[in-house]
Amino acid sequence: MGDRLTYGGVEGGGTKFVCLVGTSPDDIRAETRIPTASADETLTTVVGFFADRDVDAVGVAHFGPLDLDPTSPTYGHVISSPKPGWSGADVVGTLGEALGVPVGLDTDVNGAALGESRWGVGQGLDPLLYVTIGTGIGGGAVINGATMHGLMHPEMGHIRIPRHADDDFAGNCGWHGDCLEGLAAGPAIAERWGRPAEDLGGDTEAAVTIEAYYLGAAMATYTLVLSPQRIVLGGGVMGLPGLLEATTAAMVEQLGGYLGSAPVDADDYLVAPGLGSRSGVLGALVLAEGVLGA
Ligand code: ZN
Repeated sequence: MGDRLTYGGVEGGGTKFVCLVGTSPDDIRAETRIPTASADETLTTVVGFFADRDVDAVGVAHFGPLDLDPTSPTYGHVISSPKPGWSGADVVGTLGEALGVPVGLDTDVNGAALGESRWGVGQGLDPLLYVTIGTGIGGGAVINGATMHGLMHPEMGHIRIPRHADDDFAGNCGWHGDCLEGLAAGPAIAERWGRPAEDLGGDTEAAVTIEAYYLGAAMATYTLVLSPQRIVLGGGVMGLPGLLEATTAAMVEQLGGYLGSAPVDADDYLVAPGLGSRSGVLGALVLAEGVLGA
């Protein structure tokens, strides 16, 4: 990383935007949190934060779906969003024109995977997956040193998974009903049990059992498809007591021993983020570095 360059990082989430200026976790010079409003209002506030801070490039790790095809006329736009005022928002164009610096963009979870790969619990491990389980579920991957793109970008939250026998909740994904996100994201937990995940009281154990079954199925699938060296699980739902350990157990059971001696049962295969809640915004610094080719 060029010592003389300064980067701006933005993690664009559905409830808040986090912006920071610096070069690494040990060199954070300014940081702010902005509640997510409409695209116009939010991006104007982001521009205001960076305007007098003299950054050489900005990286954005943003909620999707995004157009990440550099040859597309709508590169850098949000493709569609249930969030009011965000469908079609030109994130890269708006920030680039207002700040006059190059802007790198990737999904929030690809950004988080990059951050953990560079500075967190993913150092030296490739492929590395980062999955967030919060108001939605999404996954990103660093493979051969780069984030995974293709037809679009991974949308790991919307895979189909087997149902737990004791769960009659219909699922609440607007597109698929009972996909992984529709059964296991924070809003699904709240709707199934009638109260938020952090307030489950006596239902906590039963909720963790069902949640771990679904997340275990997903982790088994990701492991079989992408063969990651490690999977980092972030997001507010992972704060449920015992959920990480129960997810490992459920994943191992559903893999049925097929992977032989691969250490999927180890307590360092599914892990919590090493960068706390900053995986994404620190990964955005890596995106800023990348857009300069630094
Ligand atoms: Zn879905």
